[in-house]
Amino acid sequence: MITIIGSGVVGLTCADMLIDAGCQVQVITASTGVDESACSWWAGGMLAPYCEMESAEPLIGELSGISMRYWQSFCKYNADCEYTDNGTVVISPNRDQNMLKHFAQKTQQWKKLGAKQLHDLEPILHQHQDALFYPTEAHIEPRRVLRVLWKKVCEHAKVVTSTTLSDAEIDELATSAEKQDSWLLDCRGYSASAKLSDIRGVRGEMIHLYNTELSLSRPVRLLHPRFPIYLVPRANQQFMLGATMIESASRERASVRSVMELLSAVYAVNPAFSQSEIVEIGVDVRPTFPDNLPKIIKQGRRLLINGMYRHGYLLAPACAKIACDLILQHNSPPALSALIYDEHSV
Ligand SMILES: Cc1cc2nc3c(=O)[nH]c(=O)nc-3n(C[C@H](O)[C@H](O)[C@H](O)COP(=O)(O)OP(=O)(O)OC[C@H]3O[C@@H](n4cnc5c(N)ncnc54)[C@H](O)[C@@H]3O)c2cc1C
Repeated sequence: MITIIGSGVVGLTCADMLIDAGCQVQVITASTGVDESACSWWAGGMLAPYCEMESAEPLIGELSGISMRYWQSFCKYNADCEYTDNGTVVISPNRDQNMLKHFAQKTQQWKKLGAKQLHDLEPILHQHQDALFYPTEAHIEPRRVLRVLWKKVCEHAKVVTSTTLSDAEIDELATSAEKQDSWLLDCRGYSASAKLSDIRGVRGEMIHLYNTELSLSRPVRLLHPRFPIYLVPRANQQFMLGATMIESASRERASVRSVMELLSAVYAVNPAFSQSEIVEIGVDVRPTFPDNLPKIIKQGRRLLINGMYRHGYLLAPACAKIACDLILQHNSPPALSALIYDEHSV
């Protein structure tokens, strides 16, 4: 029996792949199943490898290919989820056009849009004259995919919910995995920080807006000198507005300053957003290693899969695949094996 701790996007994608491979799995989680206690609950669900290349390592490109194929196929076979591959639009305030130029220089796979093309694509961006369009990017609805994953896990695995394991209990599970030639997968996100000396928290605050007058078909990123934001369209006339990036591990409620910054920037996308209702304000901490890349740390038969940073949905399936390949003794491509840190070989 393989034990997985955590029911965020990392734990659930690992469980999904191991179940499909015919393994017996149990998931133990502090969450009630899928809920707001996991960082994964608060994500935008953008699958935007080319935009992320502005500041991310090239390896992210290879990993995201695996993850995007996983989500595409997952959504194809699960009617409750949708893989929307309408791309991403990137804009900047009209007075800051240099930012768009700079962003274009650092990224690939974009098309430049003039005013007419942009307004045809996203009519609510009618105040903007130029944009970059990344046609091969996609997005998913995190809460929907988590629920579908959780349902599958409940049907095919043993689940223990609302159980916060102590480090000592986790060590015991690891010892028992060693003895039984099984595996323990620690997918606790930032809560595993006591075990991972170099992990840090990057706090993110987000807001859900409801607006019946406005609609978008794809995520829009606004480059902004001080408050870059993005909007991800959701079902039922809702928009996920995100997200702050603050070097802090605090999960305290959102600050007035952050909410004001997010809301004032969304005004620059279209002033009609000021008429939106605020549905929800959320906060969580992105688990992040110094190079902002994930790690799969192997300690005997314990794997710690962590450090998804702002790329949980973009990278979790790829990391789950690397972990499964390790467990099932399949070979991972060498570039991806670079994410495996064998404690005994470091
Ligand atoms: C505002 C915001 C926006 C984001 N937007 C995006 C985006 O658009 N695209 C993207 O790819 N990523 C995005 N991210 C990042 C993404 O959400 C994270 O990288 C990802 O959720 C981390 O997943 P995880 O499974 O490692 O951790 P978590 O989702 O935090 O899951 C950890 C799990 O472990 C359980 N657990 C913790 N401690 C214990 C314990 N002691 N015993 C048992 N169970 C335990 C928890 O209950 C939980 O179920 C965003 C993050 C934030 C905050």
